[in-house]
Amino acid sequence: ETLDVDVVVIGAGGAGMTAAIELKKAGVNVIIVEKMPMVGGNTIKATGGMNAAETSVQAELGIEDTIEQFIEDTMTGGYNVNNKELVTVMAQNSADAIDWLASIGAPLPEVSFSGGATNKRIHRPEGGAGVGAYLVEKFNQNLDDLGIQVMLNTTATEITSENNIVTGIKAEGKEVNYTIHAKAVILATGGFGANEELYTKYKPELKGYVTTNTPGATGDGIVMAEAIGANLVDIEQIQTHPTVEQTTSIMITESVRGGGAILVNQEGKRFTDELLTRDVVSDAIVKQEGSYSYIIFDQLLRDNLSAIEKYVENNITVQGATIEELANQIGVDATTLANTLDTWNNAVAAKDDKEFGRNTGMDNNITQGPFYAIKVAPGVHHTMGGVEINTNAEVIATTGTPIAGLFAAGEITGGVHGANRIGGNAVADIVVFGRVAAASALEYVK
Ligand code: ADP
Repeated sequence: ETLDVDVVVIGAGGAGMTAAIELKKAGVNVIIVEKMPMVGGNTIKATGGMNAAETSVQAELGIEDTIEQFIEDTMTGGYNVNNKELVTVMAQNSADAIDWLASIGAPLPEVSFSGGATNKRIHRPEGGAGVGAYLVEKFNQNLDDLGIQVMLNTTATEITSENNIVTGIKAEGKEVNYTIHAKAVILATGGFGANEELYTKYKPELKGYVTTNTPGATGDGIVMAEAIGANLVDIEQIQTHPTVEQTTSIMITESVRGGGAILVNQEGKRFTDELLTRDVVSDAIVKQEGSYSYIIFDQLLRDNLSAIEKYVENNITVQGATIEELANQIGVDATTLANTLDTWNNAVAAKDDKEFGRNTGMDNNITQGPFYAIKVAPGVHHTMGGVEINTNAEVIATTGTPIAGLFAAGEITGGVHGANRIGGNAVADIVVFGRVAAASALEYVK
């Protein structure tokens, strides 16, 4: 079957849906192809929020923050491997993106601190809802209202071109194969954190790691872009999340450690400041015997943090009425674990962790039974690298010039996060660059 449109967007995650909404509002004939039976991609799993600086929401809440500081925090978090021009675009357009979200019925009115940010900058939906699921629902509502066609169960397989100008894509549906003619193509296929073959190609030491990603995150867009000459940047920069339960791939949110949990090894001893960056904590866990760790917390934290109910419901928590009982459940020496907790609770009381220098997430001690443990190890979480884009979200060829008619946004691209993405920047990336890609594609097709 042959279709003719102005713009085809590949991938119905946050970046693709954002771009499609903007294009349709500008009167462009746009469709989305999505290989999974539903929209949302990895975006639906985003839990933190969206980083943005100098926003109307911050102003209303009296929070001082600057675009400059947002840029600096992102560069520092990414070990300065980031492309500063792209980071600057993200930061400069972040406040407008927050207003835009509000204008399409997706306000993010709560702002708090998050790892790696100097100021209160991470914007969240009201009442602590998961930002990803919230945004996907609102975006989807907009797609419906605007009458944007999403072809589900349809996998893009090739970007077509003539004389180095993109002419559309080929895609495979369940029964029908499509040739889609388009003046411009926007790649929004996300990362490759669910494609073990691909991530071990770039980082062999990740062999055997579980992934926190949805099954669609297979890097198809990167492979397709490469096939027509796109350059890849930072492709070996792959972020692991340190605390993933390995039999279910359920990610134990950073808020558990932030709320006071500690990590112990099979000997029952702590081995790191639990709130260092994801890469550092992941490495520390892998170095322990068996390459795993237990995350330990108490009833007080369970009462305070609703996320924990999901872990209990999924039977990944082990519990004991006393520390000794918990130790026996996980086969850890009871005296050692009790000593570890004594030392930790004293550190919390003194606000001084002499062993590992932790100075955050120390508001609560671990004293109120029952006590809980979840066995965790790192999992592949985010692929920072990908296709090279410029500040207009044009895809750059290995020759150094843009590929005419090809744009990309979101996790498929490299450069924004450098060697380490800080929490809240994935959502900022998809909304800002989804809109940039739409604006550039609009300019290109009109
Ligand atoms: P981002 O956060 O950058 O928007 P997501 O992971 O949220 O990325 O969304 C990417 C979407 O692209 C997913 O829904 C995924 O299933 C889809 N996708 C990946 N590869 C293809 C493909 N070859 N054809 C169509 N859709 C694809």
